[in-house]
Amino acid sequence: MKAVIIGGVTGGASAAARIRRLNEKAEIVMFEKGQHVSFSNCSLPYYLSGEVPSSDKLILMDPEKFWKRNHIEVRVNSEVLEINRGRKTVSVKNLETGEVYEEAYDKLVLSPGANPILPRSIKGTDLPHVFTVRNVSDIVRLKDYALGHEGEIAVVGGGFIGVETAENLSLAGKKVTLIEAAEQIMMPFDYDMVQILHKEAVDHGIHLILGDGVSRIEPDRVVLSSGTEVQAGTVVMAIGVAPDTGLAVKAGLKIGETRGIWVNHNYQTSDPDIYAVGDAIEVYNRLTCRPSRLALAGPAQRQARAAASHMYGELHNNCGVIGSCALKLFDMNAAATGLNEKTAKAAGIPYDFVYVQQSDKVSIMPDSAPLHLKLLFETPTGRILGAQAIGKGSADKRIDVIAAMITMGGTLEDLKELELCYSPVFGTAKDAVNQAALAGLNILYGKIRQIPVYDVRPLVEAGAYFIDVREVDEYAKGHVTGAVNIPLSEFRERIGEIPTDRPVYLYCRTSHRSYQACLALMQSGHPQVYNVSGSFQGLCLYEYYNDMVTGRQRIVTDYIF
Ligand SMILES: Cc1cc2nc3c(=O)[nH]c(=O)nc-3n(C[C@H](O)[C@H](O)[C@H](O)COP(=O)(O)OP(=O)(O)OC[C@H]3O[C@@H](n4cnc5c(N)ncnc54)[C@H](O)[C@@H]3O)c2cc1C
Repeated sequence: MKAVIIGGVTGGASAAARIRRLNEKAEIVMFEKGQHVSFSNCSLPYYLSGEVPSSDKLILMDPEKFWKRNHIEVRVNSEVLEINRGRKTVSVKNLETGEVYEEAYDKLVLSPGANPILPRSIKGTDLPHVFTVRNVSDIVRLKDYALGHEGEIAVVGGGFIGVETAENLSLAGKKVTLIEAAEQIMMPFDYDMVQILHKEAVDHGIHLILGDGVSRIEPDRVVLSSGTEVQAGTVVMAIGVAPDTGLAVKAGLKIGETRGIWVNHNYQTSDPDIYAVGDAIEVYNRLTCRPSRLALAGPAQRQARAAASHMYGELHNNCGVIGSCALKLFDMNAAATGLNEKTAKAAGIPYDFVYVQQSDKVSIMPDSAPLHLKLLFETPTGRILGAQAIGKGSADKRIDVIAAMITMGGTLEDLKELELCYSPVFGTAKDAVNQAALAGLNILYGKIRQIPVYDVRPLVEAGAYFIDVREVDEYAKGHVTGAVNIPLSEFRERIGEIPTDRPVYLYCRTSHRSYQACLALMQSGHPQVYNVSGSFQGLCLYEYYNDMVTGRQRIVTDYIF
C-alpha cells in the first residue's frame, strides 16, 4: 500500500507516523509546500518573546529524522497542485526547481490546514510590513522585522493567534495595539468572563481597541472603520483562518455546509480513497449536534490517527468535538470547553449557569489566587454543557475535568460527586468544579434565585435594593453604590430592617456568605430574594475595563480584585 500525505505538520505527520506503526511495509510519502515539517505551530508566538529561545527549537522533526526513524519519505518545498482522482495520482511542483511531476497513491490523506484570512476589502495587506503567523518562516520574518524596526505594532484580531502574538511582542518590549472588530477578544469566552482578560491586557500595557475593524493599512498606520488612526510600523493580521479547501474543490470532493471538507465517520471524503483531517475539514459538534469547524491541534491529531487506523480496518468511535482550549495572557491562565452562553443560545439549548469565585489553593498557601469559573448546564436535565475558567493558577486543570465530564455525558450531580485529588498546595478539599456543581444544583432545583453580574448595573441605576453582607471594614473599602451593609455576623438580628415589599439583591465577596444570608432571609418568609452570582469580586472584574475605557459612572465606590 502506498500512502501519500498532503501537509507535513500536525495532522499530516500524525497520519504518516500512525500508518507506519500499523504497516511496516507501507510506502509513505509526505508532501509539504513549506520549508519545514512537524513544527510546533502552537509555540510559534513564544519565539517572539524569547520564551522559545531559537527558531530551531520550534522544529520537532526534519525529513532526515523522518526517514531514519520511520522510513517516511518527506519532500519539503513540494506543493501538491492537483489531485488526479481518475489516475489516483497527485501533481506536485518542486518549488526549488520548478519541476512538476505526478506521484501515484493508493490512499491519500489531505491535511492542508487553514489559511490566514486576508480580506480584499482591507487595502494594504500586501505591504511589506504586514505579516501573518502560520509557520516557522513567518514567525522568523515577523520577529526580525518587528524587533529590527523602531515603532509601534498593531495586531489585528483578538483570537488565540492575535492575543498570543500581541502578548509575546509586548513581552519583547514593543508597544502593541490589539484591534478587534467584535466587542470582545477570545470568542470561546462569554462577554462577562472575558472582561478579566481585557483587564489583564490593558494592565500589562496593551492598547486594546474593541468594536472597531481595520479598513486600510498604510506604511506607518492602520486606519479603522471609525476613522481612528493607529500608528504602526509593523502590522500582524490575525483575524481568523479559513479551511484550505482549494485542492479538494478542484478535485470535486464534497464540501460541507460550514465550508470545510466534508468527511464521514472515518474521515473519508466523498472519495473513499481520500481521507481529510485537521483544520481543513468540517467536524461534528456533539453538543449542538450540528456540523462545525474547529482549528485545534488535539482534534487534528486524533482525526489523523483515526483515518490511518481506518485504512487498516481498525474501527474508531467518532464522538465528535466539544471544543476545549486554553490560553495564557501575561499572569492569567484561561481555559474553556463546550458551549458558552452565545453558542448555547444559537443552538437553541435551554441552559442556566453559575459563577464560582474561590481560591485555587488553600488560601494560606503563598501562591494561592482567585479562580473565576463559569459553569453552564442544560435545563431541566442538569447535563453539563460548558465551562470557562480564568485565574493565575490551574484554570486548564479545572476545564479538563469538566471536558471529561461533558464527554462522558455527565450532569451536575456527577460533577458534585466527582472525587478529585487534593493537597493544599494543589487545590482545596472542595474544588472549584465541585463547588460549581453544588451552586448549579441550587439553581437547577430552585433552592435559590440568582442574578449574574451583568444584570447588576441596570438594577443599580434603577435604584434596586442591594445588601452587602460583608463585614463593615470590607464594605468601607469598596461596595456597590447605594448598597446597605448588613454583615452576615449581624444578619439574623437585623433581618427586620430589610423591606419585604420589593426584591432584594444580596452579595458578599464571592457569593458564599450572601448565599447563607439569602437562605436565612428566604426562610424568614421574604418573597423576593436574589443572590448576586459572582458577587463583588466578579462584579468589579466585570465592570472595570468598560469603566476605564468609557469613563462612564461607576456602580462601585471602589474596586476590589
Ligand atoms: C500561531 C498558532 C498558535 C496555535 N496555538 C494552538 C494552541 O495553543 N492549541 C491548539 O490546539 N491549536 C493551536 N493552533 C492550531 C493548530 O496548530 C492547528 O489546529 C493544527 O496545526 C492543524 O493541523 P493541520 O494538519 O490541519 O494543519 P497544519 O498543522 O497547519 O499543517 C498544514 C500544512 O499543510 C501544508 N500544505 C497546505 N497545502 C499544501 C499543498 N497543496 N501541498 C503541500 N503542502 C501543503 C501547509 O504548508 C502546512 O504546513 C495554533 C496555530 C497557530 C498558527
